[in-house]
Amino acid sequence: MPDAQDPSIAAVTRRSLLRAAAAAGAAAGLPGTASAAKAKPRKADVVIVGAGLAGLSAARALVAKGKSVLVLEARDRVGGRTLNHDLGKGQVVEIGGQWVGPTQDRILTLGQQVGVKTFKTYNEGTSIAHFQGNRIEYPAAIGFPTLPDDALTEFVGALGKLDALAKDVSRTTPWTATGGAQLDAKTFQNWIDENAVKAGTKWGLQLAFEAIWAAEPRDVSLLHALFYIASAGNAKTPGSLIRLSSTGGGAQESRFVGGSQKVSIEVAKRLGKRVVLNAPVHRIARSGKTYLVTSDKGTFTAPQVIVALPPVLAGRIDYTPHLPSHRDHLTQRYPAGSVIKTLTIFDEPWWRKDGLSGQALSDVGPAKVIYDNTPPSGGPGVLLAFIEGDEARTWAKRPAKDRRAAVLDNLALAFGDRAKTPKDYVELDWSAERWTRGCYAGYLPPGVLTAYGDAIREPVGGIHWAGTETATEWNGYMDGAVQSGLRAAGEVLAG
Ligand code: FAD
Repeated sequence: MPDAQDPSIAAVTRRSLLRAAAAAGAAAGLPGTASAAKAKPRKADVVIVGAGLAGLSAARALVAKGKSVLVLEARDRVGGRTLNHDLGKGQVVEIGGQWVGPTQDRILTLGQQVGVKTFKTYNEGTSIAHFQGNRIEYPAAIGFPTLPDDALTEFVGALGKLDALAKDVSRTTPWTATGGAQLDAKTFQNWIDENAVKAGTKWGLQLAFEAIWAAEPRDVSLLHALFYIASAGNAKTPGSLIRLSSTGGGAQESRFVGGSQKVSIEVAKRLGKRVVLNAPVHRIARSGKTYLVTSDKGTFTAPQVIVALPPVLAGRIDYTPHLPSHRDHLTQRYPAGSVIKTLTIFDEPWWRKDGLSGQALSDVGPAKVIYDNTPPSGGPGVLLAFIEGDEARTWAKRPAKDRRAAVLDNLALAFGDRAKTPKDYVELDWSAERWTRGCYAGYLPPGVLTAYGDAIREPVGGIHWAGTETATEWNGYMDGAVQSGLRAAGEVLAG
C-alpha cells in the first residue's frame, strides 16, 4: 500500500486523524471510545446504522417525537464523511466534506440549532488557471478563467444548457423523465462530445465534472448527472450546475466555524448514550416483528431499522431474509467516486499578501483544483488541493512521498516556489477508508437509474434507507444527508 511505503507521511496523517478522532469522541462525551466497556444488548423503537449526518439527523428527529433510538457507528467517531483535522492551538480544518451554500437550508438550520456558525470561504484577489501551457489570471469573484478562443462564452453556455435540461428531470422520480431511457443510455462524456466544440469548453466541463462527482465524465449516466444538477436547489429554487460549481452564491460559499464535523459532534453530544461507537453492523435479521441488528458491540433489537450508509456499504451488510433482488442489484451498481483530499499547511496564508485568492485550476495533475482553506482566524495558512477521478485512482497506488511532491509542484505552479516549503502536509484517500470506500458520494453508471432507481428509498419491511445518496435535494451533499435522515425518520413515524 502506498502509505506503508512512506512511513513519515503516513504517520503524520494517521497521528493527526487519530488526534482529531479522539478529540471528537472526548468532546462529545460519547461511549464506545477505546476505553469504553462492551455495550450490553439493548432494545429501542428504532436502531439506526451509521452516525453520519443522515443517521444523526434521523435520530434527532425521532427523539424529538419521543421515540427511543440507538445509533450504531462503526468508527470511533461520529460524522462519517465529515472529519476535522486538528491544526493545534484550537484551530481545525476539514479533511472531508466542508462547504455549504445558499439553498442548503437543512444543514444550515441544523448547524444553527446546535450552535455552529458559518463563515465565508476566502474568495478575494486573483485566481490562477493553467491551460495548455498558458497561465491565466482572473478575479476570484468571477469564478471562471477567460479561456483562449472565447471558450468561456461556450463553457458558460454549456452550463446553462445543462441547467435547462435538468429542469425537466424530476428530483423524486428522475427515471420518469421524458426521453429518460435515452438520457440514461448516455454518459456525461457523450454530452460533452456532442455539445462542446472548443478545447477550453471541453476542459472546463471535464474539470467541473471531476470537481463535483470525483469521477470521470465517462463513468456517469447523463440522466444521473442531470438529476444531480436538478437536486442542487431547494423547494423554491431549481437546481443548477452553476450553483454547484460556484464559490460566491454557490455550493462552496461558506464553511462551518470549528469545522463541519462539529455539527455531528454537537448532535451526538445531545443524543448521549444513544450513540454507540466502535459498533460496525454486520447483520440485520428479522425475527417476527423485530429486527436483530448484530454489531461488534453485541446485538440490538428494534421493530424498525434505518440504514444510513452509502449504498456501497449498505449492500455489504448480511440481511436475513435476504433483500429483494431489485434492491440488491441497485447497491451492486452504485459505486462511489475517487478522491484524495490534501491539506498543505503554512505559518500564514502568504499568497493573500501577493493578492492571490489561493484558488487555482489546472490541466496538469494530479491536483487540478485548489482552494484557500485557512481557518476563519486567518492562520495557519492552508491550501486544499483535490486529487480526483482518474488522478486519484492512479496516484493512490504511488508512494505517499511522490504524491506529496506532485501536489506541492501543483501549488508552486499556481502560487510560486514558497508553496514547496510547508510546515505540514496531510492527505486522506477516502476510497481506502473501510467505512466509506469512496467519495464525495455514490454515482450511477448508465442504465441504472431507469432500471433500479425506484429501489433507492423503497423500504424493505421495517428497514428504511437514508444517506445522502437517497436525497432528493442536494443529493451527495451534507444537506442531502440531513434531508435523507429527516425523511427516513418521517417514514418510521408514519409507519
Ligand atoms: P456518511 O457520512 O458516510 O455516514 C455513514 C456512517 O456510517 C459513517 O459514520 C460510517 O462510519 C458508518 N458506517 C459505515 N458502515 C457501517 C456499518 N456497517 N455499521 C455501522 N456504521 C457504519 N458535502 C458537502 O455538502 N460539501 C462539501 O464541500 C463536501 N465535500 C466533500 C469532500 C470530501 C473529501 C468528502 C469525502 C465528502 C464531501 N462532501 C461534501 C460529501 C458529504 O461529506 C457527504 O455527502 C455527507 O457527509 C454524507 O453523510 P451521510 O450521513 O449520508 O453518510
